[in-house]
Order: sequence, then structure tokens, then C-alpha cells
Amino acid sequence: MTVDQLSTSRVQISIDLSHKGRQIGDLRARWSDNHVPGGYYLTPIASLSRGEGPTLLITGGVHGDEFEGPAALMRLLNDLDITHINGRIIIIPALNAPAIAESSRVSSIDGLNMNRAFPGDPDGSPVQMIAHYVEAELLPQCDAAIDLHSGGKASVFVTCALADVDPESPSGSANLALVKAFAAPYLWVAGPGNDDRSLNAAAARQKVPMIAAELGGGGSCNPDETDFAEAAIRRCLSHLEILPKHGDIPTPRITPLAVKETFIAPASGLFDRKFKVGDKVEKGQSAGWIHFIHEPERPSLPLVFGRCGTVLAVSNRGMLERGDLIAIIAEHCQIRDL
Ligand SMILES: [Zn+2]
Repeated sequence: MTVDQLSTSRVQISIDLSHKGRQIGDLRARWSDNHVPGGYYLTPIASLSRGEGPTLLITGGVHGDEFEGPAALMRLLNDLDITHINGRIIIIPALNAPAIAESSRVSSIDGLNMNRAFPGDPDGSPVQMIAHYVEAELLPQCDAAIDLHSGGKASVFVTCALADVDPESPSGSANLALVKAFAAPYLWVAGPGNDDRSLNAAAARQKVPMIAAELGGGGSCNPDETDFAEAAIRRCLSHLEILPKHGDIPTPRITPLAVKETFIAPASGLFDRKFKVGDKVEKGQSAGWIHFIHEPERPSLPLVFGRCGTVLAVSNRGMLERGDLIAIIAEHCQIRDL
């Protein structure tokens, strides 16, 4: 095993991504704390490479309480036959590996949200070092990227791809083609408000076509979502011609949604919900109540939707703090060629 020191990053990689074949190793960020005083922070990485086709980077576990994506990536790593591959598939099933180990959105090592850490910092904390490595070293080697999320413990999303499909964007058309191949029932259209510290934003800066996905949520490992993700990635691999095509990919029915409102809790208390993710709601419709369970004499606070739309995401929590997410409301929009 060779460990190559990369020029601008402190992160070392224990495999050579330019080599052909099936390789499994680690990204190694040197880090010292009580747990590993003189050791490394390890992020497992796999490369399946054969032939001269394109490179797809697939990541999961950016948030450590979202398990459907990592599970689908482990299935693919177990099952993909390298003799069928023309190109390179780089798989990182747990980009925030300590967070996954803790079943926590962020890791206790540095408390940072990986999807708010890009473009990263080569001299920063483990999450910042890994984010920097991904943006500065890994993405420039890739022709496309897919990042698998779900709502985690805190929320539940409709099954959707998230992408910038603006035809004026450098990767807009390629992103839309990936969205079609992924074939989730919904497309969350990333607009100008998309956070520039996300992995999507990193890929856009590096001009690499990319989609993210939200695969339900709730903090467990939903088999329907994992099955869907596994098949969706295989369709994307066929679309990119890294795997052979098995007939035409059927044209899916995808509903594009643009986020219009984040509905947050106006008070702390027990969220008694009267709607589900994916529901179509009307302005003025009851969304439930906040009950003041520790002050039963206090009247419950009615919650009312402020606009009509589709519920893209909903809180998965019972007890809410004032300001916590209640729901993300989106509206159908028109996307050319979808
Ligand atoms: Zn996530």
C-alpha cells in the first residue's frame, strides 16, 4: 500500500486512484485529540476502475444519521462486477465517518455540518480538511457526482433529486440528464438561494455535473428508499455509459418543485401534526397545533399554512423548539425538457 502526499491537502490517500481494478482504502487526515492522540481521522474510499470511460463520484454519509444512501453504496460496492465497468466509480459511503459511527448529523470531533463546510480548509478540522480534499483534489478528477442524503432523525423528505437544472448554468443540461436517469418522483430545483457551502455548490464551482438526493428520512434505513437508491445509481451509471445499457431507460414522471417557504415553529412545545410529507396543502389549512405539554392550562397554539403548495419536507420531531422546522413548502414549476 502506498500513501501519496497530495500537494495542497494534508489528507493522504492509501490507494492510487489512477490505478485500474478494485481498490479499497482510506482518506487519512492527521488529527490529534484524546481519542487518537497521534493518529488519523479515516474516511473509507473505494475505486472501481476499468477501461477509459468517465469517472463518477458517489458519496453518502455527509450527515451521519442518514443511512439509506450509505446502505445503497455498500450494496453496490459488494455487487458491482468490475468486468462490466467502462470508466471509474469512486465510492465514499460515509464522507463524515465519525458522524455515521455516532448516528449523528454532525460528529462530536468538530461539530461541523459537512454540507456547510465547502470549500473546506486544508489546515482546518477533520470535516474542513475532508471537504477541502473533495473540492480541490477529488472533484476535478470527476465527470459527474451524486451525493445521497435523507432527512435524518430530524425530518422526512419526499424522494427527490436536488439539482441546478438552469440551462444557462454550465452543468444545467448535464444535471437534468442525471435527474432523468435517477428518476426520483420529485425534482427539488436548486435556485440561487442554494447554500454555497454545500457539496452541490462545490461541484458547480468545479464545473462537475452533479445531483444530490433526499431519500425520505427519520433516522433509520428505509428499505424502499435503499432499493430505490441502488436502482437509481445503476441507471445513472448506464446513462453515463460506465455500465452497459439494458434497453432504453424509461422516461420517468418527475414533478419539479421550487421551494417557496420554510415554515418554522412559532413557539416551543409538542408538535401535533395534521399533514404528511408529499401532501398538497392550501393557504389557511390547519397544520396542527403546538401543545404546551408542561403547562396544560395554557391553550394550544393552532398552526396554519401560510401558502398553498406541496410539502417537500416535514419535521420528524415531537418536541420542537421555537424556530425549528415544521415543513418546507414548495410549488410545482415548469422545467423545459423534463
Ligand atoms: Zn443530509
